[in-house]
Amino acid sequence: MKKPLIVQKFGGTSVGSIERIHQVAEHIINAKNAGNQVVVVVSAMSGETNRLLDLAKQIDSVPDARELDVLLSAGEQVSMALLAITLNKMGYTARSLTGTQAKIVTDEQYNDATIKHIDVQPIIELLAQDQIVIVAGFQGITESGDITTLGRGGSDTSAVALAGALQADECQIFTDVDGVYSCDPRIVKDAHKLEVIDFPTMEAMARHGAKVLHLPSVLHAWKNQVPLRVLSTFDVNQGSLVKGDECTLPVCGLAIQRDMCLIKAEKETLALLQKQSRLLGIAIWDVIEHPEWLAVVVKQDAYSKLELVLQGKVADCLPISLLTAVGANTAELATLSQQLLVDNDIVTIHQKFDEQSFTIALCPESVDSAANLWHQAYITPNKAHDCLQKHAFLN
Ligand code: ASP
Ligand code: MG
Repeated sequence: MKKPLIVQKFGGTSVGSIERIHQVAEHIINAKNAGNQVVVVVSAMSGETNRLLDLAKQIDSVPDARELDVLLSAGEQVSMALLAITLNKMGYTARSLTGTQAKIVTDEQYNDATIKHIDVQPIIELLAQDQIVIVAGFQGITESGDITTLGRGGSDTSAVALAGALQADECQIFTDVDGVYSCDPRIVKDAHKLEVIDFPTMEAMARHGAKVLHLPSVLHAWKNQVPLRVLSTFDVNQGSLVKGDECTLPVCGLAIQRDMCLIKAEKETLALLQKQSRLLGIAIWDVIEHPEWLAVVVKQDAYSKLELVLQGKVADCLPISLLTAVGANTAELATLSQQLLVDNDIVTIHQKFDEQSFTIALCPESVDSAANLWHQAYITPNKAHDCLQKHAFLN
C-alpha cells in the first residue's frame, strides 16, 4: 500500500538555531516513523533574509533584481543543508535540494516570481529510496536557468505548490504561533485561535496583511484543494485547519497592514504614477479621489521605486496603515463602525469594500486602537456562535 505523503514547512524561527533545527528534526522523524513519506520545505534562519537584503541595500537602495535573487536564495540553502546534516547525524537518510535541483520552474519576475510548474520526478525518486527530502523554500528557476525568489514569506508557497504537485495528503505549515488567530494576539489581547477557517476567509486575511500565511500559498492550496494546517513547532497541538470553499462565518478576523503609503499627486502625475506602477508590476491598493486631493495607496517599498522614475513630481508621501475586517457580513460592519470610530476620536482617511472584507485606511498611530475596538465590538461577541458553527463544520 502507498504510504501517505506529508509536506512539512518550517519557518525562519523554527530553524533559527542549531538547537531549534534539532527540534524540527524530531517533528520530521515522528512523521516518518508514523509511516509517512516526508518532504520538508525550509525558510532561511530567522533574520537571515533581512540581513542579506540589508547588505545589498547598503550598496544600492534599489539593487539589481536578478542579483538580489541570487543573494537572497542563499539563506534557504544554509538551513536546508544544516537540517540534512542533522537528520543524517541522527541516523536518517536525508537529501537537500535547491529550487533548481527540485525543478521548481517560475516566471521571470525576479523578487516576486510565480511558480509555473514543478517536475516532481527527482523528489519521487528520492522518496522511493526512502529518503527524507528537504527543499529550499522561497526559490525557483526560470526556463532560461536564472534563480528567482517568490516574494517575502514565499516558503509557504513553495510548500503548498510542492504538496499540490506531489498530491500530498496534507501540507503542514510549522511556525512560531499555534494557528491562525482572529487578529494578531500581540496587538489584540483577547484574539482567539480559529480552529477551522475556510479558504475565502483565509485568502482575505492573507491578502490584507495577516502574516501567518503567504497569500499565493493560500490561493494555490485552495485551487488544488490541498488541506493546509498551521501549527507550532514549539508545542504539541492541532493548530488551525484551512479547508472549505465557502465563507460562512460572520466577521471573524482582522488583518493589519502597516507598510503602506499614500502618495498625493496632481492629475497628470497620477496618470503617470498608474502607468509606471503597471510597468513596474507594483500593485496599487486604491486610487483616492478626495474632493480636495488625489492620491494612490501603495506599499512603502514601492514608493522608492516610483520616486526613482518620477523624480520629484510627487508631492507628498504619507505613511498609513490599513485595517481590514473579514467575514460574511462586513457590509453591516461598515455602517456600524463609523460611529464607534468617531466616538473614539479615530479618523478614517479612506474606506474600501471587497468581497467579504471591509478596509479602512488610517494613520499608523491609531491602527492598534481601532483593531482593539473592532475586535471587542464585533468579533468577541461572535465567538460563541462561531464555535458552534465550527463544530458543525468539523463533524
Ligand atoms: N526567507 C524568506 C523571507 O524571509 C522566505 C520565507 O521565510 O518564507 O521572506
Ligand atoms: Mg512566513
